[in-house]
Amino acid sequence: MPEIIFEKSTQFASFHNPLMGGELTTHELELRYDPLTRHQSVFNPGMEGKSQMLYPDTDFDYMRERAEESKASCFLCPENWKENVPRFPQEMISEGILEQNRACLFPNLFPVGGNHAVVRLGNEHLRFLNEMPADLLQEGIQVSLDYIKRCHQYDSNLRYCTMNANYMFPAGASVMHPHFQIMALPEPTTYHKRLLDYSRTFYQDTAKCYWNELLTRERELQERWIGNTGTCDWIASYSPGGFNEIMAVWPEKESFLEWEEEDVQSLAKGLEKVLQLYHEMNLSTFNFSCYSAPMGIQSPEFKCVFRIANRQNVVRHHRTDDFFVQKMLGNEIILNRPETLADWLREKMG
Ligand SMILES: [Zn+2]
Repeated sequence: MPEIIFEKSTQFASFHNPLMGGELTTHELELRYDPLTRHQSVFNPGMEGKSQMLYPDTDFDYMRERAEESKASCFLCPENWKENVPRFPQEMISEGILEQNRACLFPNLFPVGGNHAVVRLGNEHLRFLNEMPADLLQEGIQVSLDYIKRCHQYDSNLRYCTMNANYMFPAGASVMHPHFQIMALPEPTTYHKRLLDYSRTFYQDTAKCYWNELLTRERELQERWIGNTGTCDWIASYSPGGFNEIMAVWPEKESFLEWEEEDVQSLAKGLEKVLQLYHEMNLSTFNFSCYSAPMGIQSPEFKCVFRIANRQNVVRHHRTDDFFVQKMLGNEIILNRPETLADWLREKMG
């Protein structure tokens, strides 16, 4: 039996459909199970091409309008923004803030973790997803990596680190201004712990690293395989945890401690392409997280992993996409087949 199984099952939903003159219709649903966590996602082919009902395209004029209105109250916008951002205690980061060209990192004013920083990405208050160039992303990721390494140097117990982002209010962002959020914590968050625990179990059972095995299988199958940008490989998630979810894995890197400039550059290059594709799909929002093995602890069971997914688009009176299915039952809905997404992105990454 192969160690990685792309398992699926079928459920049927039958009803007399008033939209079809009361005819009895049956929807055949495809359920997918993540090969590591068993996370379930469901695809209803009957919904294909009808996702506009649940998930309308971005209203780009409204986005511009919101940007104009929110600019005045944006603390990252004015000339003197740097004087107004929070600063780290001297003993931790003597400079108070960290900078990398257009990217600047400082403490989050409303932290939800012991070490929770914000990265301001350039001067532009509004950027559409095709306006996030790799060099700007690279500066943001580089300063995030510097912060993570500095935190771990300051206190070696700060070993559970993630690089994250909310983009636009439907994705949870409180400011429109492009920014990242970085965490360096003494214990992993719920999902980060789940990834680490499942990876350890897989390693104990098979003596293999799940993430390397996953890449090998996906490369063989060529269904969800996208390609690589330098040191990381890109795939569409088999059983996604968010809309249009794309993943990257660094097959040679267990933790952020091992990251160098080329790893940062690799992520930035691929991320630019993902965001370009999202824009072409009329999408405007995202969440991402990049997870590392615990820093300073040998972890042959893990490799650095990045996940990005969309949230509801920016439209007037947007409706949340996180309803009982996701929030209370922990399942996700597939709008576009991961295999189709991979095809689209493969062309782009070339
Ligand atoms: Zn701004």
